[in-house]
Amino acid sequence: MGLERCGFCGVPIYVRLAASWNDDGTVTGRYARGTRVVQIYADEINHILEGISERIGHDISRIIVEGERKATIQFNRDLLRNVPPALKAVFNNRVMARPLNRFLLRSARNAGLGSGRIVEYRWGSGLVADFERPFNIPVLAGDMLGTVEEFYGQSGEVAWTGDTRRVRITITLGGRASHVDEERLRPVLPPTLPGDVEYERCPRCHLPLDVSRSYEFDLAKGIAVEKETGRRIVTVIIDSLYSVFQELESELGEEIPEMIVELESQYVAANLPCAARCFEDLDSDAMRLLLGDLKVKGMGNPVDVEVSGGGAVVRIDNPFSEELLAGRVLGLYKAFRGGVADVDWTPDTEGFTVIEVKASG
Ligand SMILES: [Zn+2]
Repeated sequence: MGLERCGFCGVPIYVRLAASWNDDGTVTGRYARGTRVVQIYADEINHILEGISERIGHDISRIIVEGERKATIQFNRDLLRNVPPALKAVFNNRVMARPLNRFLLRSARNAGLGSGRIVEYRWGSGLVADFERPFNIPVLAGDMLGTVEEFYGQSGEVAWTGDTRRVRITITLGGRASHVDEERLRPVLPPTLPGDVEYERCPRCHLPLDVSRSYEFDLAKGIAVEKETGRRIVTVIIDSLYSVFQELESELGEEIPEMIVELESQYVAANLPCAARCFEDLDSDAMRLLLGDLKVKGMGNPVDVEVSGGGAVVRIDNPFSEELLAGRVLGLYKAFRGGVADVDWTPDTEGFTVIEVKASG
């Protein structure tokens, strides 16, 4: 097990192999530089997805699967874009399938997505896998479906039984191809602005020491928790969350972004960071401190923070999800000031968003 972690800071080697923490408030894939990832609370994503489902009154699992499936296919294509076809052929065969499966399951454990094992595997026709403590079943099912479909170049179907303690996921290839429109949800990511976030880095693995200070990784269970709060944290590709949000919006309508903001603000107000106890009122310094974890989570770089009597204005460079961040700023504001407040934000087209909260009443 010693080989699985950095000897100095203790962060799993796979985390270092998978991701780079940049000085612009983003975390990107080490070998797929165009891919951004975030660390996000498992129950934060679940609060939003379950909240949307409750509000509209029906199960959105299939929409989530579809969003994840498309993003996973796109991610694999980006990752393998520069790999010569001859080398791809070496991996894409019966002999390599098993080690690849093992590698994927291990990557999933390192990302905190739960611990899985293959129960049944039939070359070219599908597989059955059991997972202990998946953080979200439709997200995991969509990831697996996208990976298997891309590997075999055929469409498939996914089904599951069980719950979030233990789930059995079955993928069957060659099923009814109800989804072929891969390009529709390809998110167009805005440019990234430079930043001057200065991390204190581990002398051995060069990851920010904030990563090992903030999180604890249980590699056997596939669970990562934030030390301060004990809450489970997962590493996800932002394209996949964008893809799920976009799929929800295109299926269910324009009220989805507002719903995300509201659900996120509820979540943040109900789960304030411990540091919030140090402040009696919210001023600019307090807000800056309470947004300080955005950088290590890869959600963006809060560069301007101004809180006044009547509201708050926050500019975040390289934001991950304007809706989530607007919800977060609103939630922090309401937790301290109470009452009614509105939030507005500029869409991120040039690498930043400006979020404005106004007290209204
Ligand atoms: Zn280290």
